[in-house]
Amino acid sequence: MSQAPQKTPAEMLATPVQYVKGVGPSKAEPLARLKLRTARDLLFFFPRDYQDMSELKAIADLQEGETVSVCGTVAEVDLRNTGPGRSLLAVLLQQDEHFLRALWFNQPFMRQKFETGRRVLLSGTVKISGGRWELVHPTVELLGDNEEPPSGRVLPVYPLTEGINQGAMRRVVLAAVEEYSQYLDEVFPQDFLDAQGLWPIHAALPQLHAPTHADSLEPARRRFIFQELLVLQLALAIRRYKLTHDRKASPLPVTAKIDARIRRLFSFKFTDDQNRAIEEVSRDMAREIPMNRLLQGDVGSGKTVVALYAMLNAVAQGKQAALMAPTEVLARQHARTLSDSLASSEVRVALLTGSLTIAQRRRLEEQITANEIDLIVGTHAVANMMAQDDVPLSNLGLVIIDEQHKFGVKQRAALKQGGLDPHYLVMTATPIPRTISMTLFGDLDVSSLREKPPGRQPVHTYLADDSKRAAWWEFVRKKLGEGRQAYVVTPLVEETENWSLASVEQTFETLANGELADYRLDLVHGRLTSEEKETAMESFRQRRTQVLVATSVIEVGVDIPNATLMTIESGERFGLAQLHQLRGRISRGKHPGYLTVFASPQTDDSQARLAAFEQTNDGFELAEIDFNLRGPGDLFGARQHGLPPLRIADLHRDEEILQEARRVAQALIAEDPHLDHERWALLKKMVLVRYGKVLDLVDVG
Ligand code: ADP
Ligand code: MG
Repeated sequence: MSQAPQKTPAEMLATPVQYVKGVGPSKAEPLARLKLRTARDLLFFFPRDYQDMSELKAIADLQEGETVSVCGTVAEVDLRNTGPGRSLLAVLLQQDEHFLRALWFNQPFMRQKFETGRRVLLSGTVKISGGRWELVHPTVELLGDNEEPPSGRVLPVYPLTEGINQGAMRRVVLAAVEEYSQYLDEVFPQDFLDAQGLWPIHAALPQLHAPTHADSLEPARRRFIFQELLVLQLALAIRRYKLTHDRKASPLPVTAKIDARIRRLFSFKFTDDQNRAIEEVSRDMAREIPMNRLLQGDVGSGKTVVALYAMLNAVAQGKQAALMAPTEVLARQHARTLSDSLASSEVRVALLTGSLTIAQRRRLEEQITANEIDLIVGTHAVANMMAQDDVPLSNLGLVIIDEQHKFGVKQRAALKQGGLDPHYLVMTATPIPRTISMTLFGDLDVSSLREKPPGRQPVHTYLADDSKRAAWWEFVRKKLGEGRQAYVVTPLVEETENWSLASVEQTFETLANGELADYRLDLVHGRLTSEEKETAMESFRQRRTQVLVATSVIEVGVDIPNATLMTIESGERFGLAQLHQLRGRISRGKHPGYLTVFASPQTDDSQARLAAFEQTNDGFELAEIDFNLRGPGDLFGARQHGLPPLRIADLHRDEEILQEARRVAQALIAEDPHLDHERWALLKKMVLVRYGKVLDLVDVG
């Protein structure tokens, strides 16, 4: 007698969905569209919500529009043809002297479920039709003669696609759970499950998809949420361990003498927050492992000053330092400010951007190699030079990256090639919500500047509609007359997009021929060359132009203290963080700033976002508000950062579990940095499969 070779559990789980009971080729196609290809995929297809069927109601107590379950006896069944291939099934349900009608369109096969006198439980949303209670396509549960209807039942609600409905999806997933969940391995050791109060997978998975009771849902979900967040936190903890322990950097401890020399260069005293950040940075730089720190604070909170302190410390110890900005305009501006601040010192600054000629670039490379340059300020061209083998940037002690969000996790990994690493400090003016900095940036240390330097002028923010235009432009003219300058910002628009939306050119034309006809206007947008942009910015800086009409290219970092007025058009088209960045442009000088946002918000969220923007000036607070408004659907650019989306955890809702997972992950990695112990073998595999590539953990395997 021959037997088919026994399949391994892994092979069983890899069974194509179409062989799962009740699927077949016709449902396999819509399932594939949901990326459900194997039995295993079905097991981990998490419900997006649950429908509480616990409202068992008497027909006499029904309310229009309620979602309920009604238990009764089948009094009549009527199936009729209503056209070719079309049918209507009507079932009359009786409960004492009350009746309810249930209807199914084009589902003649439902007929066989019902026989008169049978007890059934119907669930759905009730409405009154022709003076009678009606349920269309309710879910049906057949009850035995003496069987009590289930109470506290909760049904999963899955994401769907054309070709498969909720009921079919539930049946398919349930069939997979019944047949295949036995082949799943438990990734956690039993004592760990006990200690964490987690349900084992074989108890949790069926309850996740088909909770027998509302009370079992929470622990079932918790197990998977915890697992998902733990896997992420482990990946980040391992990465962090690698970045710190597998890497070497030159220790650059600040001495009292260096500290005094640096502070003398500034005409002001540092704020408490700046001093704390400087302390944190100095502590990191004194170590033999590379600093990997994020410095966050609103525009104008004094981040650049902290960065300059760190760079001067590196230079004082015979090292070179680099500052990388996301655009050429900003790189130039940084180079200018640094050169000004350092005019009285011997520090040599050079600018490195993509627009250097080959000869200029070669000359710069020679100077860098010969140590004739101390600070290199530039764009991504700096990173390119670091990656180059023939230019020894081996004396680079520190790299500052301005505007984190332009450089993702991946790019940072790519920057970290080679033998001795520089220390890294990343600056961002878009504060990151706490839960996010624990996840996406979980491998970074964070310093925050919440306090503004003294003498900062407030910005008065107004949210307005078109009826306020005349008054606003009159105010703008008055302030221009007093010598101030103004920005007018329009959203980026494609030519093909809604033509009625004010494009930057249109806005420019309208103002130049209308409200601001007597003033000197200029125009900047993304289609200009960097030289043209620089020329426009320069003449604005020199006050040759009074009003700069721009797309959001001025968003990041431009520093012109005399510009204190800003008008934002179509404000609903900007994100909250972006609006706040823009506002930062006009809080730089000794005069107060005035900002009017013209907007016609179409949604409640958009309205709430704009209202928050009008009410608070604190970027940290706005970041949290924005995060809350975006809700679980939006992964705050997780993809941009190269991380796969979370499938069951919601960082906002599950913050507590996140904290716990983080704590556990850090403890595990402190004890077993590469998770090499046998008891974590499966967990480690999971970490590597999910995050190995994006977080560059390959050599951990
Ligand atoms: P950020 O980089 O966070 O936008 P900057 O470091 O460019 O902020 O500082 C903004 C402005 O405030 C600069 O003109 C800077 O010289 C000034 N500044 C920074 N720190 C202080 C301070 N402690 N006291 C007074 N002025 C400061
Ligand atoms: Mg700055």
